[in-house]
Amino acid sequence: MTAFWTETDFDDHELVQLVRDRKSGLTAIIALHSTHLGPGAGGTRFWHYAEPEAAMRDALRLSRGMSYKNAMAGLPMGGGKAVILADSDKTKTPEMLAAFADAVDALGGQYVTAEDVGISEADMAAVAQRTQYVSGLPVEGEDAAGGDPGPFTALGIFLGIKAAVKHKLGKDNMDGVHVALQGVGSVGGGVARLLAKEGAKLTLSDISEDRCRALATELDAECVASDAIMSVPCDVFSPNALGAILDDDGIGRLDCKIVAGGANNQLKRPEHGPLLAKRGILYAPDYVINAGGIISVTLEYLCRQDEAPCDINEVRKRIALIPGRLEEIWQESDKTGESPDQVADRLAQALIGRG
Ligand code: NAD
Repeated sequence: MTAFWTETDFDDHELVQLVRDRKSGLTAIIALHSTHLGPGAGGTRFWHYAEPEAAMRDALRLSRGMSYKNAMAGLPMGGGKAVILADSDKTKTPEMLAAFADAVDALGGQYVTAEDVGISEADMAAVAQRTQYVSGLPVEGEDAAGGDPGPFTALGIFLGIKAAVKHKLGKDNMDGVHVALQGVGSVGGGVARLLAKEGAKLTLSDISEDRCRALATELDAECVASDAIMSVPCDVFSPNALGAILDDDGIGRLDCKIVAGGANNQLKRPEHGPLLAKRGILYAPDYVINAGGIISVTLEYLCRQDEAPCDINEVRKRIALIPGRLEEIWQESDKTGESPDQVADRLAQALIGRG
């Protein structure tokens, strides 16, 4: 077996910890990629992996992604991620969560956890009973930062799409701009509603046909089958469902001028960013445009630590900086000939002291 530190996904991570608790049966990995800008922040994934190597790969890749995302969002946080290796029945017990919380606590604030796939708000509330190093907890009142990150992520994406339309199409408004959305859940549905208010023409798709139809009726939009959305002729394709959709086949099918959406890890492999650029399609790097949610949950955490104002206006102010950051990336890309994802990675690496 290859040692994990020789694997391609290992990127000088500062700490990779295997947590075993025999009593509760917990097996978890906590990976801290970088604490250069602050504590490593990133959610905990609860997942049944066919091979333990896949869990390690997830922890290594996702924690590096969080370093880049937090740095580009201007947050005083580094990148970290935890994965809990579930059995095939995905048995999750209070004892497991308690043992996991103790492991987070023992890191003394170097790692700040949150929800991710398979971990609910209630699970995180249980973890927070034993450690203060938790973000993404429920908040009270409409004016507080935190709570469901979906609407904040959607707001950042909406602003990012407008910036892309201005950069690529030279248009200052969304009137008649055709946007095709893949996935209309928490994030995609929010983006669609904001776009509809500004007069965009929408084509929607979702594997849940009912969800798609209900939103299409509400917004006077059109629904297409989920396998057809990537070839719809449009101005903007907005992926808000799955990752890795931008591969040779997916990019070949696109008939748009811009790709800008919230799904994580949209590019299947590093060469797919340059391939989009070669086809003349402007790409909004995913971890830059989809940072609205992390901005909200981080400010909620920093507010609890008395390190930031507990004010939703601060969240909105920071989300409003996303379009400017994208514009900076696109201008640099126009100047250097690198693709936008390459520019974003380079800027993020410089911010975390690895330039
Ligand atoms: P969600 O589960 O609320 O919505 C996802 C939607 O996509 C669902 O309606 C689902 O039916 C649909 N879907 C799944 N597969 C599809 C397919 N093949 N074609 C069309 N539709 C499909 O999830 P969400 O919170 O809206 O997140 C969407 C994406 O954004 C994910 O990739 C997530 O990792 C990413 N993201 C979310 C946030 C957030 O704040 N929620 C933040 C950053 C990134």
